[in-house]
Amino acid sequence: MAKEILCIVEIDENKIKKSSIEVLSLANKIKELEGSGIISTVVLAEEPQDFAKELFNYGAEKVYGGKSSSFKYYRTQPFVKTVANLISSNGNIDYVLVPGTGNGRDFAPYLGAKLKAGVIADVIDVEKADEGLNFIRPCFAGNLLYWGKFNGDGIKVLSVRPKAFPLPEKSDKTGEYVELSVDIKEEEVPVRVLEVMKETGKISLQDADFIVSAGRGIGGPDNLKIIQELADTLGGAVGASRAVVDSGWISYDHQVGQTGKTVKPKIYIACGISGAIQHLAGMRTSDIIVAINKDPEAPIFKVATYGIVDDLFKVVPVLTAEIKKRLVK
Ligand SMILES: Cc1cc2nc3c(=O)[nH]c(=O)nc-3n(C[C@H](O)[C@H](O)[C@H](O)COP(=O)(O)OP(=O)(O)OC[C@H]3O[C@@H](n4cnc5c(N)ncnc54)[C@H](O)[C@@H]3O)c2cc1C
Repeated sequence: MAKEILCIVEIDENKIKKSSIEVLSLANKIKELEGSGIISTVVLAEEPQDFAKELFNYGAEKVYGGKSSSFKYYRTQPFVKTVANLISSNGNIDYVLVPGTGNGRDFAPYLGAKLKAGVIADVIDVEKADEGLNFIRPCFAGNLLYWGKFNGDGIKVLSVRPKAFPLPEKSDKTGEYVELSVDIKEEEVPVRVLEVMKETGKISLQDADFIVSAGRGIGGPDNLKIIQELADTLGGAVGASRAVVDSGWISYDHQVGQTGKTVKPKIYIACGISGAIQHLAGMRTSDIIVAINKDPEAPIFKVATYGIVDDLFKVVPVLTAEIKKRLVK
């Protein structure tokens, strides 16, 4: 029996991040499988009340708002302290769901340690077990799935893989807004944010419907322009393998894979990428995968929906020209 399922909400550039809304779908699923539970959310921001309506519309029954200028940017200590205080004083919260973004991956284990709670990271699904629930997560770079279960009735912290759950349906529902008392003294926070450097890509990789990714087969940074042109033609974003990032041909924020971003576009076009398991871990759940590689034995073809065995320098410009022609019509 779940009592209260608390979802952590991340704000970026004054908007709720999509991955935080997706977390509400897992909360709904837990509630359904457990047969009980209030779905609540917590927003720590300069103006948290501004986000309550949208969260109610996506199914939150309760929104806790922590208001402070200290919440302008995510920092571990003030965020964990405030949420831990909420959980301890509330006494009803038994699940805490955290979006598995960069910040969420920092927050979840820290909160778990502070509350002496169990943590399961990177959850992609949940199902009923003989007793309680099984939480499913990928491991070994996505090659195996792991079923994890919590022991006992303590607080359960889960981080949720972005794009693993759909956005819940929107309605005009409303709910209860609760203002938290915030006990943060800025001079006691050990970290200051001096500068924020935004990703340089025109479209965020994780939000793009189309991604054209370059691998070592591109041969050098000057050749990336054909990848960029195809991505621009599709209205998409440029991704890259780690080999390309490590060679200094493109910045890290373009890296897809185990140590880069996890993406799930409608179409992922891999150009000159061999398909190492660490790369596949970040893109194998894309709706359609098109692989262009001159080696017919390249492992990328095992996950590709469509495979083109040829030189990318021949194929990519033809593809771009053909798409441009069709777009004009
Ligand atoms: C702990 C760890 C974490 C890692 N994390 C990541 C990660 O997050 N993301 C990631 O990508 N990698 C990651 N890696 C590295 C990964 O193992 C591979 O080394 C890397 O993905 C290889 O990149 P690549 O496919 O671009 O290069 P390569 O493996 O060198 O493949 C290049 C491909 O290009 C093809 N090719 C060459 N010329 C052409 C041409 N003209 N036309 C068409 N095809 C051509 C070749 O046939 C070849 O298949 C990680 C490794 C480790 C150990």
